[in-house]
Amino acid sequence: MTLSGTSVAPAALVGVYAQPDLVLVKGEGSWVWDEDGRRYLDFTAGIAVNALGHGSPIVAGAIQEALATGLIHTSNLYRTRPVAELARTLVELAFPGRAFFCNSGAEANEGALKFSRRWAGSTGAEAKRGFISFRGAFHGRLFGTLAATDREAYQAPFRPLMPGVQFLEVGDVGGVEELLATGTVAAVFIEPLQGEGGVRPIAPEFLRSLRALCDRHRALLVFDEIQCGLGRTGKLFAHQHAGVTPDIMTLAKPLAGGLPMGAILVTEEVASALHPGDHGTTFGGGPLVATVALAVVRTLSEPSFLKGVTERGVFLRKGIEGLIERCKQVKGVRGMGLLQGIVVEGQAASVVAAAREKGLLLVSAGPDVVRVIPPLNVAYEELEQGLEILAEVLA
Ligand code: PLP
Repeated sequence: MTLSGTSVAPAALVGVYAQPDLVLVKGEGSWVWDEDGRRYLDFTAGIAVNALGHGSPIVAGAIQEALATGLIHTSNLYRTRPVAELARTLVELAFPGRAFFCNSGAEANEGALKFSRRWAGSTGAEAKRGFISFRGAFHGRLFGTLAATDREAYQAPFRPLMPGVQFLEVGDVGGVEELLATGTVAAVFIEPLQGEGGVRPIAPEFLRSLRALCDRHRALLVFDEIQCGLGRTGKLFAHQHAGVTPDIMTLAKPLAGGLPMGAILVTEEVASALHPGDHGTTFGGGPLVATVALAVVRTLSEPSFLKGVTERGVFLRKGIEGLIERCKQVKGVRGMGLLQGIVVEGQAASVVAAAREKGLLLVSAGPDVVRVIPPLNVAYEELEQGLEILAEVLA
């Protein structure tokens, strides 16, 4: 089957994506090519998915290895070794507990919402059905996760959403305590580094306060590390910068090297509240995706790899700080490691469009923040090239 000559006009696709007129046909490392042979430096990495870049031999090798068994999918009616090994590896790297595998970030967070209520019920606290989320949060676009996502435009057309989510300002320790004291909150959801909501790192002290408050009031602390986890900040998990562990952590994006996969890691206490039939998915955690995820996680968790991310992050950050002095349109920078947000005057979308014209792919994070999310193994020369294009666009 060949796709050449197939119309790529969007007529047959649901129009929920505002896509530029660009058809990608090839990728290698930090680069992608369009049909006309034009090359682009890809600093979107598939929205923080392609941690090892395009065409990674590690990902390709793991796919080959999995294919050689003939088992792409088995369903969760049966056990497979890659899935068991992946669960063991993640739990060892994160915190003692267990893993559940699914297919996307939103699905991981939906599961975390359910698991939290199941845990609360198992403790006898049936009144604990509610959730706390924060201003700027993005947890997904399904009915539960959308309810916990702080974006009026995303929510409005789809109400009623899941009831029970209350939003607080990041840093509002008193507000969190007040709500937890009502005895109606099952879990507090937070991204240790907010992504879509504008690339905002959460202060370590606030994460530590949440840990203490959740312990005091017996609620779960859920870290959504779907975008910021798995090496992006220079530590394997972003919360490790703060030195606190959650009761539940959700992962997705880079987990299986570009294949769709999400994970929910839970403590033994939460796991003990979950029983056969409580939750499930047909595709989640198949042997092929799990084999790839295992190879990806082993690579990303290497201390030398993480050191490389930290160093690249410092280099990128310094480069962006240099732009603040050179370019009037740049108002500031925030982020961690290789997830940096450039705060611009005017529309981030126009900066993204102008950079694309010059061969650099970027994505916005809200109206005035341009996100820079290169692959975690991006070359220093590529970072320099990207910064040069940014300087031209923002001049
Ligand atoms: N949580 C966070 C922090 C995210 O950044 C995203 C996606 O951008 C999601 C959840 C939802 O993930 P998905 O798009 O795979 O459903």
